[in-house]
Amino acid sequence: MTQTNSEPVKFEKDTVLVIFGASGDLAKKETFPALFGLYSEGCLDPSTKIICYARSNVTVEQLKKSCLPYCRKSTTGNDEVKMKKFFNMVSYIQGQYDTDDGYIRLNDAIEDFEHERGVQEPHRVFYLAVPPSIFLTVASQVKKNVYAYNGITRVIVEKPFGDDLESSRELQKGFKPLFRAEEIYKIDHFLGKDDVRRLLTARFANPFLNQSWNKENIESVQVWFKEPFGAEGRGGFFDSTGIIRDVMQNHLLQILTLATMEEPVSNDADAIRDAKVELLKCMEPLGPKNVVAVGQYGKSVDGKKPSYLDDDTVLNKESKCLTFTELTFAIHNDRWEGVPIIMRAGKGLDEDRVEIRIQYKKNTSGMFEGCTPNQFVIHFHPEPTIFMTFNTKAPGFADKLHQIKLDMTYDQQYKKEWVPEAYECLIYDAFQGKYANYVRDDELDVSWSLFTPLLKYVEGPNAPQPEIYPYGSTGPKGILE
Ligand code: NDP
Repeated sequence: MTQTNSEPVKFEKDTVLVIFGASGDLAKKETFPALFGLYSEGCLDPSTKIICYARSNVTVEQLKKSCLPYCRKSTTGNDEVKMKKFFNMVSYIQGQYDTDDGYIRLNDAIEDFEHERGVQEPHRVFYLAVPPSIFLTVASQVKKNVYAYNGITRVIVEKPFGDDLESSRELQKGFKPLFRAEEIYKIDHFLGKDDVRRLLTARFANPFLNQSWNKENIESVQVWFKEPFGAEGRGGFFDSTGIIRDVMQNHLLQILTLATMEEPVSNDADAIRDAKVELLKCMEPLGPKNVVAVGQYGKSVDGKKPSYLDDDTVLNKESKCLTFTELTFAIHNDRWEGVPIIMRAGKGLDEDRVEIRIQYKKNTSGMFEGCTPNQFVIHFHPEPTIFMTFNTKAPGFADKLHQIKLDMTYDQQYKKEWVPEAYECLIYDAFQGKYANYVRDDELDVSWSLFTPLLKYVEGPNAPQPEIYPYGSTGPKGILE
């Protein structure tokens, strides 16, 4: 059965969700808490069957215990009872990823469930919460042994999907004969964040904003990702990833794309993704000329926090892995030609913040010539906030200009509402057949085309020497402000 973009089939009753790699870190910290969140807020039908699959010898009770610290309280209470009912929907199958045996048992379990419920057209979701090295192994086995030939299959694939253009294309090539494009849901969890989704509403449901976001009015666009902690405990992963792959090529590029793309022709998932791809195609591939600063954190000034290289989990003690990068982008289109677009990301910094800042130009004439320019800012983390700086007259007799904040802090505005977390949104969307907030192949392709030359440069023989900045500082000297 083929879905049309306008009428996605919603998975409601008797859906089967299989989590591969259910014994892992992501399942514990994100997948189960998100599923429990959806269930406890009435957004996951109690008739859903959740089957965990992994090689380890673990029980459902152990999985429950390990995810408990990460589960949010529901808005309606009685969580212990809800948790018990939720885990009654869960079962576990121990099996290998690369041989048929486990998948045959999985298929039996799925068919038994569907038979018992009298399901005519199976709805199956397979969540690949496993390391990328086995994405294709699991995907092939899904197609071979558990694909819903008489129903609808959706496959959620975790990130990263490749680590450069070549490996991403290789993976795409592997997936292509297995599943149709609308069956694959590739995650960039930033797209699940409610406040990232809000960017499109902020721009296009408030036309006055969008109409002023162009080269005539905007001085610069800046995206900032600041983490106050280092690679602690994850040095093995981070050392082969680096800050560019970890957050820039994916999460921050998504924010930048949503902030700068043209308005999609409709609310349709593919119209939104088309607009993103169009924008990405207007960017120049990144290389040495785009690098403003690169750094690696050293010890904190008080000596209490270790340097990146002192971290026990960083094995290469001569690693030049970047924990900080500042880049400039050029967007060659009518709207943005000549406007500096700046992206910065760093670990071991002085703050915990992810934001986009649209800096307006100075007022160059009239009675308030030169007054402090406006800014439009969205904080995605830690506290979702949108604010705009606004010039007004200070109170009193004097004609004094004063800049204030027009502030919308979401926790204050929507105190009583349940705001779904990123993974809750994404899993819910996959059940609804809404794939606008999942990454399409051509989008992945252009984003890797932009970043691969840069990665080759910073990881190649002529790589720039990272400047060592103190843990807990603002990063390397000389970054643009
Ligand atoms: P894990 O390393 O915890 O792996 C998940 C499970 O996969 C493990 O419990 C293990 O299960 C199995 N596994 C691990 N290594 C191998 C291997 N080499 N070969 C076969 N099976 C293996 O990963 P995470 O849970 O951290 O991540 C899962 C996916 O989610 C990855 O793609 C990751 O990039 C992505 N991700 C993770 C995030 C996180 O916070 N953890 C955040 C964002 C994305 P068993 O041995 O029981 O079969």
